[in-house]
Amino acid sequence: MNRGLTERVREVFSGDCLDEEVPGYSARPLQISLAEAVGRAIHTGGIHLFEAGTGIGKSMAYIVPALLSGSRIFISTATITLQDQLANKDVPAVVAALGSDAGVCVLKGRNNYLCLRKWDRGRTRVESDEDFTSWAGSTADGDITSYKHELHPSVWRHFRSDHLDCAGSACPFRGGCHFYRARSEARKADVLILNHHLLVSGLAAEEVLPGADVLVIDEGHRLEDAASECLGLALGEAVLLPIFDGIAFSEMDTQRKALLLELARKLSSYVTELTYGVTETGPWDPVEHMEGLSKVVIAAKELASEVEGDEELQPAAQAASAVGTTAGMFQELSTEEYCCFVETEGRHPLLKAVPLDIGPDLREMVYSRFDTTILTSATLTVAGEFDFFRDRLGAWDAVCRSFGSPFDYAGQAVLSIPDGLPPHDSHEDLAVTVWHWGRKLAEALGGRTLMLFTSYRNLKLVKDMAERELPQGLELLTQGEMSRSGILRDFRASGRAVILGTASFWEGVDLPGSMLQAVVIDRLPFASPGHPLTRARMDLIERRGGSSFARYSLPLAAVRLKQGVGRLIRSMDDTGVVMIMDRRIVTRPYGRIFLDSIPPFRIVHEDMVLDFVMEHCLGSGVSSSKGSVEDAGPGDQA
Ligand code: SF4
Repeated sequence: MNRGLTERVREVFSGDCLDEEVPGYSARPLQISLAEAVGRAIHTGGIHLFEAGTGIGKSMAYIVPALLSGSRIFISTATITLQDQLANKDVPAVVAALGSDAGVCVLKGRNNYLCLRKWDRGRTRVESDEDFTSWAGSTADGDITSYKHELHPSVWRHFRSDHLDCAGSACPFRGGCHFYRARSEARKADVLILNHHLLVSGLAAEEVLPGADVLVIDEGHRLEDAASECLGLALGEAVLLPIFDGIAFSEMDTQRKALLLELARKLSSYVTELTYGVTETGPWDPVEHMEGLSKVVIAAKELASEVEGDEELQPAAQAASAVGTTAGMFQELSTEEYCCFVETEGRHPLLKAVPLDIGPDLREMVYSRFDTTILTSATLTVAGEFDFFRDRLGAWDAVCRSFGSPFDYAGQAVLSIPDGLPPHDSHEDLAVTVWHWGRKLAEALGGRTLMLFTSYRNLKLVKDMAERELPQGLELLTQGEMSRSGILRDFRASGRAVILGTASFWEGVDLPGSMLQAVVIDRLPFASPGHPLTRARMDLIERRGGSSFARYSLPLAAVRLKQGVGRLIRSMDDTGVVMIMDRRIVTRPYGRIFLDSIPPFRIVHEDMVLDFVMEHCLGSGVSSSKGSVEDAGPGDQA
């Protein structure tokens, strides 16, 4: 390694400049080791996977050497919340501590910026409140994150910048365009903070992002899902909105407007027919929909050619052409390489095609553009090995290193897997036992309990019991009844609450101190093979001669469990209890993989759980009502 850089990294961490600029900073040996490894990686180049356990302070550990190296850097995070945390807090603090003159810039996906052309055309036609009108008229950067009131997504969809209908150089508002200004600032930055979606789609589109020497991908375990989405296809009602708005907001005469809206409705009905009657777990094969896809291609062409030459309608024509092109691409798809399925979560079904193996694409489109790529996360290993992520992320030749965590897990927390649990698939009996322990812990701790479920069905069974039997004075916060951020806000404010959560609560929830002291997990979190994407990924592994259980289901579940139990201990002073209500972790041979993947909690018999609570949790820990720095769940999309 470049000796100068190593020494400067050590000097910074052993000196007092970080203490002065970073509130609550204290030097940590593991953090210094990670920072030195990042420095070496920047010097040698190549791809690196660095697992940094919770509590290391990994952001500082990569920001310091990256800035000291004088390289041009991209830092990519999984969510906008984490992007803002880096941009507003961590990076400026290190820049100030080092006295660096590096220019730092944050760039978000274009859907996060107000489109001035659409605002000009649509503001009198779409109902929105005064606060939003005032924000849209005065915002300096057009970044919707700076709007501090509630805004319904159905309003924002009309006004956000979108590649489908951006007028580009023909736009009369191009000079003041928020998105293009942000992009041009990004080109000048020494440190560019972006997110995985923008990173992958920007690099795939070639011209969107400037070049850089070093890429740090934080929350690297979430890169596969983000990249799969960016490199796939999507078709549904939602992508037709720019067409309808383009026509509806135009100044043409009523007769012509009616004709064009009729053509748009025809296109819309053909798109809807493609997903008609298909459930989220049902298969969708393009071969069976060739005729329907052709109808979409023809209707899109008809609409685009009808408005050709009409300058005002060019964005709508462009959006219609894009819909036709996407339908044509669905017709060409190889089902060996892509999985097609219908997502039904939003208001309208969305037809998706997702590539099954994005490793080669990540190598070619992402890693190859940088001298050094560093993927980091608290969850990159399974039973101490990096094979799973190395394989999924196409980082076959990566240098891998795990840095552990500074926490004394065996001293700070206990893990119990009760005897005599019902089988994992007897939902009703299991729910009774899960609630029995959830209630006991919540009663002893006065709330402070997070119950994580592998299915909404199990959550609902426990919720019904909890509503009847919740000890007095405690509050029940259930996913599905309010937003994730609302639940976390109320949990912190209450101090006496129990959360019942599924998917998005398994990661990104940061409740340090005595706010959270018990985590109860209903089952080992194997992904449902009923989902077409999971099934297709498993089939691909089998076709290539591998075991889909050993190479996909098991490691994926182990990572998930690691994330779930990782909600408990968030600082050196935290104490608490984890209960896993699934005996397979101790009775099946593969259970060892789970136990070797999660932090080394002390395993105790269930009879000792409440003793531990009495001795180590009540009145201990750092009571904290401060807001979380993360809470960036999978739903917080970039
Ligand atoms: S250039 Fe594109 S994004 Fe910017 S204001 Fe014009 S249409 Fe909107």
